[in-house]
Amino acid sequence: MCAEKSHDKKPNFFLSMLGNKCARCRRGSIYKTKNPYDLKHFMEMPDYCPVCGQKVEVEVGFYFGTGYVSYALSIAICVASLIAWWVFFGFSIYDNSIFWWLGVNGALLVVLQPLIMRLSRAVWMAFFVYYDENWQQLAAEKADHPQPLLSKAS
Ligand SMILES: [Zn+2]
Repeated sequence: MCAEKSHDKKPNFFLSMLGNKCARCRRGSIYKTKNPYDLKHFMEMPDYCPVCGQKVEVEVGFYFGTGYVSYALSIAICVASLIAWWVFFGFSIYDNSIFWWLGVNGALLVVLQPLIMRLSRAVWMAFFVYYDENWQQLAAEKADHPQPLLSKAS
């Protein structure tokens, strides 16, 4: 897959989240497609992380809470674009600049929506699943003994 050396380094938390990586190994993608604008398939997730075997949908309905994350991300984008507009164009009560900002900001949010939705799931997963130094070892164990869907007490 990748060079042996890269397995020793812990990938950066924010970069792996921005790259929609699994929270446990920070290497495997949690989406089947890399293209967020492949609108038919952009939210499809594999059942397990292709690199470490972490369950991507940790439990049924796990990603319902992402609404809060995408709301927060959207507000952050609105604030950032408001400040940028203020700095570059300025606001005045004597022209329509506030309405231009509202229109542009709305369009921006629509265009960025797929990215926001994907990122919010990665952020949500990072709330509950933490980086595991031994992801490689556990992934290998899991491959040797695949877990049955219903584990029997034995
Ligand atoms: Zn993983």
